[in-house]
Amino acid sequence: MDVHVVPILNTSLETLNFIVLLYDITEIRRLEKVRTDFVANVSHELRTPITALKGFSETLLDGAMHDEEVLVEFLEIINNEAGRLDAMVNDILQLSKLEQRQVSGVKDKIIVNDTVHDVLRILSQKISLKDIHVTIKSKKDVEIEINPDHLKQIIINLVSNAVAYTPEKGKVSIEVGTSGNELKLTISDTGIGIPDDQLNRIFERFYRVDKGRSRNVGGTGLGLSIVKWLVENNEGRIEVESEIDQGTSFTVWLPLSAPDKIVNENNT
Ligand code: ADP
Repeated sequence: MDVHVVPILNTSLETLNFIVLLYDITEIRRLEKVRTDFVANVSHELRTPITALKGFSETLLDGAMHDEEVLVEFLEIINNEAGRLDAMVNDILQLSKLEQRQVSGVKDKIIVNDTVHDVLRILSQKISLKDIHVTIKSKKDVEIEINPDHLKQIIINLVSNAVAYTPEKGKVSIEVGTSGNELKLTISDTGIGIPDDQLNRIFERFYRVDKGRSRNVGGTGLGLSIVKWLVENNEGRIEVESEIDQGTSFTVWLPLSAPDKIVNENNT
């Protein structure tokens, strides 16, 4: 709360009274804190792969490169970390574009199954590398009015996590249905699961469950925060259920037709 006291003066400049103005700046402060925390987190998170890149390349230049086994091992680490850095920069740019509403709000009527198939095509290499069995259960032709890029990104992030956190030969299932006038989309896997006490933290930016455990997956810790942002900014919601070593299931509900509120906002 910001307090401003303004004196009321008479013509001889004597104080007659005071006006006390109270400004509620809680929201402004909160947004400022979100922004500064984000910049601090970004710098911290970018430093980790950069430190690895520097450390491993310096060790190679200091002589380790003459041992061919070490050379190959370190180059693989450098290559992985460079890839992770690339993915992080992409995710950070995407989040910041979303937050500045640079992503087009153009909504279209799309068949959800078509988007699911597009996503499976995009991820086909990852899926076949791990020999993951993907099934789609769906009510035919569920149609939704949404920005197509938003729906695609939500499904890409959830399915690629399902594949990434499921051991080889595991199963991923995608269920497309409706509940009232909402799309109900469930993505389940038979993967490593998420501990109960961390379920409410996984949507935070840069949060990764047990960094050691998920390190070889090479994620950025931003995928689910992007999903949450997209879902909530399309008037939807997301829930997660999980059991360690049994699997995880994310369910997303989104209005089938763009709510009037959004149309009105766009018109003003
Ligand atoms: P990341 O890039 O690390 O995958 P996300 O924001 O997408 O970041 O996910 C945050 C964390 O939640 C992950 O690091 C992982 O520990 C956990 N997680 C997400 N999806 C799953 C899943 N399907 N199974 C198990 N753990 C998951």
